[in-house]
Amino acid sequence: MSEGNQGAVRQLSHFIDGQRAAGASGRYNDVYDPAQGRVSARVPVADVGEVAAAVAAAKAAFPAWSETTPLARARLMFKFKELLEAHADELAELITRDHGKLFSDAKGEVIRGIEIVEFACGIPNLLKTDFTDQSAPSIDSWNLRQPLGVAAGVTPFNFPMVVPCWMFVMAAATGNTFILKPSERTPSASIRLAELFIEAGFPKGVFNVVHGDKTVVDALIQSPDVAAMSVVASTPVAEYIYSESAKHGKRVQALGSAKNHLVVMPDADLDQAVEAIINSSYGSAGERCMATSVVVAVGGVGDELIERIAPRVRALRMGDGMAPDLDMGPLISAAHRTKVLGYIEAGVAAGAKLVVDGRGRTVPGLEDGFFLGGSLFDDVTPEMSIYREEIFGPVLSVVRVPDLETAIALVNAHELGNCVSLFTSNGGSARAFTRKIHIGMVGINIPSPVPSAWHSFGGWKRSLFGDHHAYGQEAVRFYTHYKSVMQRWPGSIA
Ligand code: NAD
Repeated sequence: MSEGNQGAVRQLSHFIDGQRAAGASGRYNDVYDPAQGRVSARVPVADVGEVAAAVAAAKAAFPAWSETTPLARARLMFKFKELLEAHADELAELITRDHGKLFSDAKGEVIRGIEIVEFACGIPNLLKTDFTDQSAPSIDSWNLRQPLGVAAGVTPFNFPMVVPCWMFVMAAATGNTFILKPSERTPSASIRLAELFIEAGFPKGVFNVVHGDKTVVDALIQSPDVAAMSVVASTPVAEYIYSESAKHGKRVQALGSAKNHLVVMPDADLDQAVEAIINSSYGSAGERCMATSVVVAVGGVGDELIERIAPRVRALRMGDGMAPDLDMGPLISAAHRTKVLGYIEAGVAAGAKLVVDGRGRTVPGLEDGFFLGGSLFDDVTPEMSIYREEIFGPVLSVVRVPDLETAIALVNAHELGNCVSLFTSNGGSARAFTRKIHIGMVGINIPSPVPSAWHSFGGWKRSLFGDHHAYGQEAVRFYTHYKSVMQRWPGSIA
C-alpha cells in the first residue's frame, strides 16, 4: 500500500508539481471502507490557495510540455503503461477498499484504464492532420491540432481509475497539463496514479491532483488559467459545472447520470438475456453508469423473464470485495443506502410489485458494512419515481410493453440517454432499433456496451452536456484547438 498501513486510518495527500502535498486548509473528509463500514482514510479538502498552487504548477509546466514531440510523449505513455501493468493488483485493491466493488471488477477497471493509455501511445498518428497541395495557385493549406493549456477534471466515486484516465491521459498526450479533482469518497487510486506518472518520466506539473469539494471545483471554473473542464458526475452537478464553465468561457464536456434500459424481444435468446441482466443490473451493486436499471419486456416475454431472474437475484452473494466467489459488494455509503431504500419504499407505495426484496439482508461478520441485497420490481410504469430517476443501486425495474415501437418510444421519452441494449434474434428489429433510438451508446445482444478505447464514450440528452464524448478521437478533438494554415511563397519555382 502506498499510504500508511491497512487497518490504520491512512492520511491522504494532494499531488502538486510532482510531489505529494499535505493538506494545508485544516479541513478533511472521512473515506470509508464500505464493506467494514468504518473510516479507513482521511482526505484533505483543498482551499482556494491550494487550487491556485496546482494551477500555477500546471501553468508553469505547460510551455515546455506542449513543445515536446508527440513521439516523446508516446514513449512516456509506453512506460506509464508498463508501470500500470506492474501495479495493477495494488491499484485494484485501492479501488476495492475505497469503493467496495469486487476485486475482479476493480481489476477490470484497471485494465480499461490501461487501454486508454495504450490508445494514447498512438498519439503521433492521432495528431496527424490534413494537407492540401495547391489549394489555390501556389498556395498550400493544412491544419494543426494544438493543445489548449491547463485542463481540469472532476470525477465521480464509482470509477476512481478509469474515468480520470479518460481525462488526464488524453489531455497529457495531446500536450496539455492537467488538474484532477477526484471524488472525495474514492480518492486513493488517483494519488498512486500521479506517482506512477512521475515514475514513468513525465515532467512535474503535467498531472496534479487536488482533493476537495465544490470550493475546489468553483475555483477551477473561475480560474482564468484553466482552459477546459471535463466532468463526469450526476446530472445536476454536470449541468451546473457545464453552465458555469461556459459562462467563464471554457471549453467543457460534462457527462451525467444514467437510466439504462435493456429491451428483451420475444425472439431473444433468454439464457443469454438473463445472464446479461443479472451481471449488468447487480454487478458493482448497480453503481455503474452503464448498469441496466430497467428491463423492457416486449410482448409476452415478461412472465418467463421474471420467473428466471427472480431466483438469481435471491441467490446473489454479497461480501467484502477482496473475498473470492461473490456477485457484489456493498454500496458506497450509509447515506446512499438510505437513499436507495427510499426508492424501494417509493416503488412499493406507487403500486409496483416487489418480486424480490433485498432489504434487511446482512453479511455475517460485516454487520456494519453498507450492504443491500438485490431487489426486483415488476409492473413498473413510467410515471413512478423508480422508473424516472437514477437509483444507482441493486434495484431493477421491469416494464412491460406490447411491441418494439412502444419500447423505442418509451426509451426515447426518458430524459436520460446514456446507454441501451436490445436482445433479439431478428436483424431487422436490431437495425430499426439502432437507427431510431435516441441514446448515445447502443448494445445489440450486449449489455452495458462500453465503447473500446479507440471509439468514444458518452450519452445523449441530459446524460451529456457539451459537444464531445470522452476518450478516443473525440478526446483528441476536445483537448486541442483546430488551426487552419494557408501558405504561399512568391519565389517558389513550383
Ligand atoms: P456526484 O455528482 O455526487 O459527484 C461527482 C463529482 O462532482 C465529485 O468529484 C464531487 O466532489 C463533485 N461535486 C459534487 N457536488 C458538487 C457541486 N455542487 N459542485 C461542484 N462539484 C460537485 O456523483 P457521484 O455520486 O460521485 O457519482 C455517481 C454519479 O456519476 C451517477 O449519477 C452516475 O450516473 C454518474 N456517472 C456518470 C458516468 C458517465 O459516463 N455518464 C460515469 C460514471 C458516473
